[in-house]
Amino acid sequence: MITFDNVNKRYASGQDALVRVSLEIPSGDMVFLTGHSGAGKSTLLRLLTAIERPTKGSILVAGQNLNRLRNGQVPYYRRNLGIVFQNHQLLFDRSVYDNIALPLSVAGCNKREVGRRVRAALDKVGLLNKEKQNPIMLSGGEQQRVGIARAVVNKPAILVADEPTGNLDPKLSQEIMELFTDFNAVGVTVLVASHDLELVARMRRRVLTLQSGQLIYDGVPSREVLPS
Ligand code: ADP
Ligand code: ADP
Repeated sequence: MITFDNVNKRYASGQDALVRVSLEIPSGDMVFLTGHSGAGKSTLLRLLTAIERPTKGSILVAGQNLNRLRNGQVPYYRRNLGIVFQNHQLLFDRSVYDNIALPLSVAGCNKREVGRRVRAALDKVGLLNKEKQNPIMLSGGEQQRVGIARAVVNKPAILVADEPTGNLDPKLSQEIMELFTDFNAVGVTVLVASHDLELVARMRRRVLTLQSGQLIYDGVPSREVLPS
């Protein structure tokens, strides 16, 4: 369970990025976070991933109060999270395999276990045949799949994605969203930020909408108002 209770975030610049945001996401849910550019989506995800701290209010993740998380505990906390970025942040000086293995090596996994898990993750994103390639040789959609494989290789309880389809065409975007649906189907809590309202609406899932840092909508959009 993820709980935001009256969360405010004011940056050092004085900008209020989140204003009194309260929300609950039960374990195993799949939720989309939407709103125009500057609405506060990235800020909300940065608070959840403990990159930023709230100015006011509290955030609880699986019973852990992030306000009480000491800086030294942050890396351990993040092992429960899989994080997918818009520009995937792959390393082009090593293979697909080594990109995905990175979080496991950091966590001190043995070689055999790393191999097993990397191949399981590649299998789930449909890229088993690309493990030896350099990611620079892959298409944008494939690169994002590698980014997702890297995010899930640790078997995180929560998968967080910030504009994961930002650079992809509608068909590839849909495929990436379906991949998130697959992970959700095996029990992973999924939170995806996207400003692509049409794509989000088509998923027919719970939607949280931010506007100027305030949560203005929380629900499943009705079929009638959706584009077909
Ligand atoms: P979104 O992800 O919805 O585009 P952001 O969370 O990035 O929104 O931004 C919310 C608001 O906070 C915007 O007004 C943005 O300019 C501001 N903002 C974001 N990051 C910072 C920062 N590091 N310092 C100051 N202001 C920021
Ligand atoms: P194991 O035998 O350890 O369960 P699997 O062969 O089932 O390993 O697959 C591991 C892969 O499962 C991960 O690399 C990842 O792709 C995917 N995965 C990630 N998170 C979860 C989860 N919470 N539950 C199930 N599978 C997950």
